[in-house]
Amino acid sequence: MSQAVYLDYAATTPVDPAVVDVMVRHLGPEGTFANPASRSHLYGWLAEEAVENARRQVADVLNADPREIVWTSGATEANNLALKGVLEARGGGHLVTSAIEHKAVLDACKWLEQQGHKVTYLMPDADGRISLGAVQAALRDETVLVSVMHANNETGVINDIEAIGSLCRERGVLFHTDAAQSVGKLSLDVRAMPVDLVSVCAHKVYGPKGIGALYVRRAPEVKVAAQIHGGGHERGMRSGTLPTHQIVGMGEAFTLAVARREEEGQRIATLRDRLWQGISELEGVSINGGNSPRLPGHLNVAFADVDGEMLLTAMNQVAVSSGSACTSASLEPSYVLKAMGIPDALAHGSIRFSVGRFTSEADIERAAACVVDAVSRLRQKG
Ligand SMILES: *Cc1c(COP(=O)(O)O)cnc(C)c1O
Repeated sequence: MSQAVYLDYAATTPVDPAVVDVMVRHLGPEGTFANPASRSHLYGWLAEEAVENARRQVADVLNADPREIVWTSGATEANNLALKGVLEARGGGHLVTSAIEHKAVLDACKWLEQQGHKVTYLMPDADGRISLGAVQAALRDETVLVSVMHANNETGVINDIEAIGSLCRERGVLFHTDAAQSVGKLSLDVRAMPVDLVSVCAHKVYGPKGIGALYVRRAPEVKVAAQIHGGGHERGMRSGTLPTHQIVGMGEAFTLAVARREEEGQRIATLRDRLWQGISELEGVSINGGNSPRLPGHLNVAFADVDGEMLLTAMNQVAVSSGSACTSASLEPSYVLKAMGIPDALAHGSIRFSVGRFTSEADIERAAACVVDAVSRLRQKG
């Protein structure tokens, strides 16, 4: 039996071989392995140079100044630093976010509520988008921060963060966006767009897991209180010895992603659409968020009259997620699909397919055939 087709790129991607090469050169005794904070020898200077080069690579993708990039362990930490850091620096206030954010935002908000802060959770429309009107209606005099994700991890639906950011700027409210899914796939230019804080990570764009960054605007300056103390690295915002190999891997992955963005986005969207073509031979299938602009690789399908967990088991030749990867351990229907007003039964019967750089046409044909076969069999039984 051959291996299952990997269609779970939204959960994580393999590291691109070119990125692996760069990382390996920053690990061993012959490599640039030193502590970038070591100021007393050439080993340290070379490591620092490598880190600063990668900082520029990441900054370039956002059109940011390298001094606006704070390394973190990933997007989860970047989101925590943005939300808790701003609320702490401001001495509290009201926060607006959406009900379809990643748990890294929602759980940080829950914690902030426990600390006595007020949070408003916006509902998406039926197509999974957060409307400008919803943000507008939620703003209060005491609102200090709005956090709305760029693209949703389950549906791939893209929010109009330019419009939301502009509204926030007009009202003197800081705007944070979680761009973990979109970075390297959609353009996000912080000079052109009024966003103040952006969370990104490497492992959704063919970089390593365990590294990410928070973009923190310098002008007008955004104050963020550190959440991890010890040593004062990253201009005091995030202490800890910098993982040189992870950081150079992220820099290389980001540069690669942008160099290939147009061509790869089109290729992946074509494959994704082929997959949908194959699946849509079935009756009773629809795309969750299908009427909204979406990331090129995402395809979240609702299968009527099928249980998602049984479907996952039946189509064992395809590696995908039911609901979001982070909640697939529980049998609650996806909170994102629920918030979009999708009935529980349909949400339970929904599967996220996500196509990526190493997906082939043969993979797509095989996956489509496997899905059609599995759904047909389950429906016959049911
Ligand atoms: C993956 C993801 C995260 C978490 O990022 P980590 O680097 O794994 O901590 C946060 N937000 C979104 C939208 C994601 O897709």
